[in-house]
Amino acid sequence: MQQLTPQHFADRLARGAAQAREAGLDALLVAPGPDLAYFADYLPPATERLTMLVIPTEGEPTMIVPVLEHDSAAATRSAGAIRLITWADGEDEHAPLVDQLWSGGRYAVSDSAWALHLLALQHELPDVRFAAFSAALPMLRAVKGPDEIDRLAAAGAAADATFEDILTVAFAGRRENEVAADLDRLLRAHGHSQVDFTIVGSGPNGANPHHEAGERVIRQGDMVVLDFGGLMDGYGSDTTRTVHVGEPTDEEHEVFEVVKRAQQAAFEAVAVGVPLQEIDRTARAVIRDAGYGEFFVHRVGHGIGTTTHEPPYLVEGEEQPIVAGMCFSIEPGIYLPGRFGVRIEDIVVATDDGAHRLNNTSRELHSVR
Ligand code: ZN
Ligand code: ZN
Ligand code: ZN
Repeated sequence: MQQLTPQHFADRLARGAAQAREAGLDALLVAPGPDLAYFADYLPPATERLTMLVIPTEGEPTMIVPVLEHDSAAATRSAGAIRLITWADGEDEHAPLVDQLWSGGRYAVSDSAWALHLLALQHELPDVRFAAFSAALPMLRAVKGPDEIDRLAAAGAAADATFEDILTVAFAGRRENEVAADLDRLLRAHGHSQVDFTIVGSGPNGANPHHEAGERVIRQGDMVVLDFGGLMDGYGSDTTRTVHVGEPTDEEHEVFEVVKRAQQAAFEAVAVGVPLQEIDRTARAVIRDAGYGEFFVHRVGHGIGTTTHEPPYLVEGEEQPIVAGMCFSIEPGIYLPGRFGVRIEDIVVATDDGAHRLNNTSRELHSVR
C-alpha cells in the first residue's frame, strides 16, 4: 500500500480550499475529529484546549495548537503542509484564530467543533457568518482518492476475516455480550486500532436496528444480526451478516432471501450520475414488493472514510449524483418486532463501471452452532 506523505495532505488541503471557494466561503475551520484526521493526519486529545486548522481559499493552511501539543502536531504525516501557531495556557486561545479570520467573512466549521470555541468566535466576530460542514459542504470528503480506497479495502478485508472467524465460535448458550467481545478481539487481531461497534442482535433483539449487545443468552433457533466495524490505519470498516443458530425455518429463510435480493439489486443500481436516493428506492422496492415494506425502517446506506458514518447518505430526498470514488454502505434490513431481524451490509466503492464491493464474505444464510 502507498505510504501517505505530506504531498497527499497538501493535495487534500488544496481540494478543500477549492471546494470552499466554489461554495463562496472564505475558509474552512477544521476541528478535531474525522475532518482533522483527513486534512492533517492529526487526532489530538479530545480536551477543551483549542486546536483548529484554518484552510483559507487563498494562502497557507494554518493550525492553531496548544504549545504542549506542538510536537505531536508537528510529527504527523502532514508535517510541512501546514503552518503551526501555538498558544500557551493563560493566553487568549481564540486570539490567534481570530487573527486568521476577517470581519464579514463566511466560514464553514466542522460539525464536531466544540460550541465553547464557536460561541467565542461568534462573540468576537459578530458580523461573520458560520455554517456547518454538513450544511455548506456535505460532499467535502465524500469522494475518496486511491490512497483512501486502498485503506478502506484493507479495513473491509479485516472485517471479512473477522466474520470468517466468528462463524467458528459457539453462539447457543452464550450471552450476546460475549460474542460482541469476540468480535472486538478479532477486529483488533486483524489490524483494527479502534472498534466502533459490535452489534449482536439475537432473536427479538435483532428486530431493533439500534440494539448493540446485551445480556440475552443466544438460543438454538435464533437469527443473529452481527454488525461490526471500526478504524484501521485511519479508515473505517462496517459490515453486517445475519446468521442462524441451527437450521432456519422456511419463513426465516424467505425473509433472509428478500433482504439478500434487495441488497443485490441496490448494488447493481449503483452507477455514476445516478442520484443517491435511487439506491435506497431500489432496495425499498424489492422489500415492499415482497410485502415487508413497513419493516424496513432506515435509510439504505451511508458514506464511510475517516469515520464509520459520514456523507453521502443514501436516503430518500438525497438527489446528489453518485461520483466515482464515493464509498458507502448498502445495508437493507427487515425487522419483525418481537421476533427477529435480518440485515446484510457491504461497503462498496462507486467506479465508472458500477460498484465494487469491499466486503466479500458469503451473503448466504450461515448456520452457526
Ligand atoms: Zn430460527
Ligand atoms: Zn453496520
Ligand atoms: Zn453501516
